[in-house]
Amino acid sequence: MITLEKVRQRAEADAKTNGCYLNPDKEFLNDLFDGLKKNEERYGYPSCPCRLASGKFEFDRDIVCPCFYRDPDVQEFNACYCGLYVSKAIFDGKISLQPVPERRPQEKQARAFGVPNEAPAEKKPEKAKAAPTKTPPTTAMKLWYCKQCGYTCYREEPPYICPICKAKREMFAELPGKG
Ligand code: SF4
Repeated sequence: MITLEKVRQRAEADAKTNGCYLNPDKEFLNDLFDGLKKNEERYGYPSCPCRLASGKFEFDRDIVCPCFYRDPDVQEFNACYCGLYVSKAIFDGKISLQPVPERRPQEKQARAFGVPNEAPAEKKPEKAKAAPTKTPPTTAMKLWYCKQCGYTCYREEPPYICPICKAKREMFAELPGKG
């Protein structure tokens, strides 16, 4: 079983190798480590604690921490999407953490959950049979919103950290009437 210490060591080693830093807010960092640990226990790999994983590695490989988007985000926005990895300027307290826009292409998540591509499709022949419907995720999906900033997401559980305002999971509430 993966331990929190192992998760921390891995992140520290990766930050050192790749010239970035871990968020200096220890409590915030621990929440993210806890999210990574739980995701690793659940899926077998440490998928991003701020994003919804499909549980299928071939679809989730880009969001296994550190995700494909970490380096460009730290370079452009001084932090990764979750705020786990930060630039030196943030680490030194010279600037503060800001919301980082989602760099992951929407199609990637859509593909993982079998959501049809919304790009205009070629016209189907009149008598074409209906395409087989994709199997929906087996989890009980719910709509969550962050009480601090209003960010919403549709997933089984709220994220460990709000990717927009960095509020903790406790700040998320379920929107009724969905799921
Ligand atoms: S956004 Fe940060 S915490 Fe999430 S997977 Fe990427 S590097 Fe890890």
